[in-house]
Amino acid sequence: MPHDHADHDSPNGHPHTLLPSDPALRVKALETILTQKGLIEPAALDEIIETYETKIGPRNGARVVAKAWLDPAFMAALRADATAVVSELGYYGRQGEHMIAVENTDTVHNMVVCTLCSCYPWPLLGIPPTWYKSDAYRARAVREPRKVLAEFGVVLPDGMAVRVWDSTAETRYLVIPQRPVGTEGLDEAALMDLITRDSMIGTGLAVTP
Ligand code: FE
Repeated sequence: MPHDHADHDSPNGHPHTLLPSDPALRVKALETILTQKGLIEPAALDEIIETYETKIGPRNGARVVAKAWLDPAFMAALRADATAVVSELGYYGRQGEHMIAVENTDTVHNMVVCTLCSCYPWPLLGIPPTWYKSDAYRARAVREPRKVLAEFGVVLPDGMAVRVWDSTAETRYLVIPQRPVGTEGLDEAALMDLITRDSMIGTGLAVTP
């Protein structure tokens, strides 16, 4: 399981360098110790993982974005206080405590990374994809965002600025992709199908129907 981000507060600022290299091994060892001490219930742990893998996923985020596209007042509220707005829809909990929604426009494209580890808005997007947690993405998203975007198949117009948001233990971001042209008549459900997980991380665009 992804960690709980207590290590963001490490005094030396580089907690990861002190840890063994294989995260899966480390997690397994921790799980074993905690189970032996009676601090966790393996069945409960499995249920949490199951929930985030199958029940909670990018559909939650897509619903939020579709609503924002359809309703300017909802968009304004979301931009002003995303945590409150998505909580009202029932999307809250682990790793979604402090949400900020950033909106793509004709002049700005937003993209999200966690340079330190893998912070991600679980209640809206589910479990992060493997590439999001990779060293390469974490380093390159900041250093050469346009190149990374191109590798994802996203080529932006020359005049468009790219803004990269670094997630932290405190803050998680949701990108509101631009609504594709030709979607004027579509309802919420139809719009949701155009909103991909990557478009809400900023490594993709919404699908043009
Ligand atoms: Fe992180």
